[in-house]
Amino acid sequence: MTSSPRNKDWREKALCAALPDEIQELFFAEKDSVKTREAQVICFECEPRDSCLSFAMHMRLEAGVFGGMQPDDRDQIKQSKSFSKKKEVIDRVRAEVALFAKHNETTQEP
Ligand code: SF4
Repeated sequence: MTSSPRNKDWREKALCAALPDEIQELFFAEKDSVKTREAQVICFECEPRDSCLSFAMHMRLEAGVFGGMQPDDRDQIKQSKSFSKKKEVIDRVRAEVALFAKHNETTQEP
């Protein structure tokens, strides 16, 4: 989370902004659902992911996937007392999403 949430330039590079409505709905799907995981996969490929996460946390957004994190993940980051604990949460979610993406790739092969 390096960029200031006040710097809105990151939105111009947001991967989700260019997606059709039916894909954008993934970002507000049920907790831990396949759709939510698919949204998180998109986030982890998104260049301004850190800025997006900072923005969501600064604005205290209570719903939706932002910066690759579900609301519960953001709560855990917020409650973490140290930078290393915050990083642990982010790394855990990143690993879960990578595992999901890998599994999805495998099951979608012809
Ligand atoms: S990190 Fe995710 S929610 Fe944020 S701008 Fe990128 S794709 Fe959109």
